[in-house]
Amino acid sequence: MRIHALQTGTVAIKATHLRAHAQARPPRVAAVLRDRTWTDPLPILCWAVEHPEGLLVVDTGETAGAHGPAWHPFSRCTRFAVVPEDELGPRLRAAGLDPAAVRWVVFTHLHGDHIGGLSHVQHAEIVVSDVEWRTATAVRGPLEGYPGRALRHRITPRTVTFDDGPWEGFDASTVLTDAGDVRLVPTPGHTLGHLSVAIEEEDHVVLLAGDATYSEQLLFDDAVDGVTVSASRHRDSRRRLRDLTARRPTVVLPCHDPESAARLAKRTTR
Ligand SMILES: [Zn+2]
Repeated sequence: MRIHALQTGTVAIKATHLRAHAQARPPRVAAVLRDRTWTDPLPILCWAVEHPEGLLVVDTGETAGAHGPAWHPFSRCTRFAVVPEDELGPRLRAAGLDPAAVRWVVFTHLHGDHIGGLSHVQHAEIVVSDVEWRTATAVRGPLEGYPGRALRHRITPRTVTFDDGPWEGFDASTVLTDAGDVRLVPTPGHTLGHLSVAIEEEDHVVLLAGDATYSEQLLFDDAVDGVTVSASRHRDSRRRLRDLTARRPTVVLPCHDPESAARLAKRTTR
């Protein structure tokens, strides 16, 4: 299977957003708002998987100029650098892939920098967890960094509830492909309906981890990020993800890890 890392620009965030020191959410968020230390620009990655059953895209990255509402306090806590050529459509074409040929788009979660490129692949079957869809399109969605109810007018996704039984250390999963080699597993915490995508290749697993952790290192440091909705669920998801790497050689690919593309290219496992 060919798997492509597609980088749709970069984002710099606050140091305490990348790695929080508090566990409870109010002090974590307050620290991000106060913090004057910025990270280096981090990639905004999404993924294209050339599967025999069809072209799969996981997350759609960010777009030029669309970085959330100015009224939201967090709009001052992120510095995006995205030009039109960075967007998903041009990135797919640069990889020799046709955006119109995308069969599935799976969203790990519905934060703006993961769904920005949706318009490039809107005809595909959109797959998202049921909890994530309901949370993101609720009236309070925009307060939580989601597009809110407007998203309901743009797409009608297939919402999944992880009914295909346990897989490795996960209590539940959804199988995406007939071959059974692409599986969606719940990894809540960063958002309540966050999922990760596990792809089985010969002797290892490629794990598209979204924002379940911001980097492989932070997963093994057992660190929570500054905006995670539920620190306890994030901790539980981290434990299950580390458990997966103990059971199976796993290529861990978070969306904002500067090392993800190189790990994918070399299939570097933990
Ligand atoms: Zn996110």
